Amino acid sequence: MSPAVPVTRFAPSPTGRLHLGNARTALFNWLLARRTGGRFVVRMEDTDAARSTPAFAAAVLEDLRWLGLDWDAGPDREDDHGPYAQSARAAVYDGHLARLQSAGQAYECFCTPGELEVSRRVQLAAGRPPRYAGTCRDLTDAQRAAQRAAGRQPSLRFRVAADAVAMFDDLVRGPQRAAAADVGDFIVRRADGSAAFFFANALDDALMGVTHVLRGEDHLTNTHRQLLVLAAFGLPAPQYGHLSLLLGPGGAPLSKREGATSLADLRAAGVLPEALRNLLARLGHSYADQAWHDDAALAAGFDTAHLGRAPAQFDDAQLRHWQHEAVQRAAPERLLGWVAGALPPGLDAAAALRFVSTTRGNFNSPDGAREWAHRVYGSLPCAPAETAAACRAAGPAYFAALAAAYEAHGADLKALGAAVLAATGAKGRAFFLPLRLALTHTHDGPELAPLLALLPPAVVRERLAAAAVLSTAAA
Ligand code: GLU
Repeated sequence: MSPAVPVTRFAPSPTGRLHLGNARTALFNWLLARRTGGRFVVRMEDTDAARSTPAFAAAVLEDLRWLGLDWDAGPDREDDHGPYAQSARAAVYDGHLARLQSAGQAYECFCTPGELEVSRRVQLAAGRPPRYAGTCRDLTDAQRAAQRAAGRQPSLRFRVAADAVAMFDDLVRGPQRAAAADVGDFIVRRADGSAAFFFANALDDALMGVTHVLRGEDHLTNTHRQLLVLAAFGLPAPQYGHLSLLLGPGGAPLSKREGATSLADLRAAGVLPEALRNLLARLGHSYADQAWHDDAALAAGFDTAHLGRAPAQFDDAQLRHWQHEAVQRAAPERLLGWVAGALPPGLDAAAALRFVSTTRGNFNSPDGAREWAHRVYGSLPCAPAETAAACRAAGPAYFAALAAAYEAHGADLKALGAAVLAATGAKGRAFFLPLRLALTHTHDGPELAPLLALLPPAVVRERLAAAAVLSTAAA
């Protein structure tokens, strides 16, 4: 693999379905790889046996696929840098932990959680940030043996040299620096023998050849420790970029927001993945313009220099905007599923496609599509007051002329307009509005000519007849 080719990754912990925040992280890493002809890999960080499940791991991959991301390697697509599930990497971690320990760069720590908590409180009370006090740093062999004999299981701590300094240039937040006293000796292997997050995450990035890590800013302060681990092995560090938080409307954390924030929920509500890609790619990252971008344009315009430091805000109006764009661009076949069951039985495929092509400017969701299917093919409820008033104002002659012209010319709006003009003098809005309201009971809708052509003749006749009755009714 040439060092010039960037390798990015997404490293989810499969403890739930993918939500918007994680999806954005995955998308950014994917775009960075795809822009540069690099590689994008997925690593499943599934070592939290209490919370990770194989079902969630499978669901996360499925959510990523639905979002339209593809990966060059992952737990379902191994290559010689894997395995890509951390649960299958215990031997890799054990080997590296043993190396650290025998080099004296890590030591066994027998402190109990209770003891560590007391030490933490004492430091906080003294106004100091809590760091490991170094209690077990220099135990003798005899002291260790005594601890073991007392039944204590040690964790393994990384020995941070007194003069250690970890520095990096964050792709989003610029230069970062931490000295030994800011970090403190940290755990690399838990007392139960499993590798700690910092350790496994950093080691895996290096062993998997990852060159760029875009991840949430909650991981910013982990990075110093990770760099110390990598330096201890002489392994290269990726370039890190810590993404600003993704907030919901009003600035509340997205995770606490009411309503749909998981990809599964958005998918169930009919959100199209390309709408979500256009939206997410602009949350905390900016493009030169606000135009719709296909994947090639999203990738070509993705630049870590355009990642912002301010928290990004998700709101439903933006989602509706991109969803509208996506619906107008989608192949009509993709939207057919939205109206399955709402179209009359026996309607042929060509007519169903014509329905979608004609009406899609007026809906963004399966619910909206079904509403229009009903409006076109079903029976309308009682006319609202506005329709009744418009029919009265148009008068019986208007509807008589319309009905006759429709029988003579079919759905030819021009011919209908000419007949009404001749019979009543109505033209322009006075022609269009009563007809539209008579046919659909609403102002909003597709252009009248294709809409008229879409409506089955029996439906047109019935609605014109009902409107004719209204036109004679008393106010
Ligand atoms: N498994 C970690 C998480 O989901 C990964 C952090 C990282 O991207 O380095 O937060």
